[in-house]
Amino acid sequence: MNLLIMGPQGSGKGTQAQKLSRELNIPHISTGDIFRENIKNSTELGKEAKEYIDNGELVPDNLTIKIVLDRLEWSDCGDGFILDGFPRNSTQAKALDEKVKIDYAILVDISDEVAIERISSRKTCNSCGKIYAKTNETKCSECNGDLYVRDDDTPETVRKRLEVYHENTKPVIEHYIEKGSLVKVNGENEIETVFLEIKRKIKI
Ligand code: AMP
Repeated sequence: MNLLIMGPQGSGKGTQAQKLSRELNIPHISTGDIFRENIKNSTELGKEAKEYIDNGELVPDNLTIKIVLDRLEWSDCGDGFILDGFPRNSTQAKALDEKVKIDYAILVDISDEVAIERISSRKTCNSCGKIYAKTNETKCSECNGDLYVRDDDTPETVRKRLEVYHENTKPVIEHYIEKGSLVKVNGENEIETVFLEIKRKIKI
């Protein structure tokens, strides 16, 4: 099954993508994770992407599209995949259409207020990427990695990222509504409730 998941920062789309990946045994491909991994390893791509990411801007399409289309060639995508954070605008959506057919585009919907509150208080594990909402812990309970606040998780950057999100993602949502593949779920519910709603709507 070829899936993609959209939603503002803090919607829990990453968590839902991981759960779908496990349930369906398909890879979870997050463009944000790919960029962060490259920044951590100081690759050329990481150096190019860092400035945009730190400013809450999108990384240019030519870079991003190539990375995703190359990743979809890997053999682990044979039975499908779940894309997280891509496409973020119409150009990316069109480039994806030319490569594969998307069965469902899942939109995890939350209000801006909830997004800002959730993001400004979250921490991420620097080793396995697990995200913690509101925690005083400094170590990951899964892998004992260090928990840190992402550079782009400050309230100002989050506001900017939400603006960019709405501006760019609206046409992408329209795109998948037109194709009849958009499913919308309420991301303000509990994680398991959101997951059940997704499973029901994509018929798994
Ligand atoms: P995320 O983890 O999905 O919030 O992504 C973090 C940052 O990576 C975003 O704020 C963008 O700067 C960049 N990024 C992730 N996905 C894309 C994309 N599809 N197109 C352009 N930039 C992206």
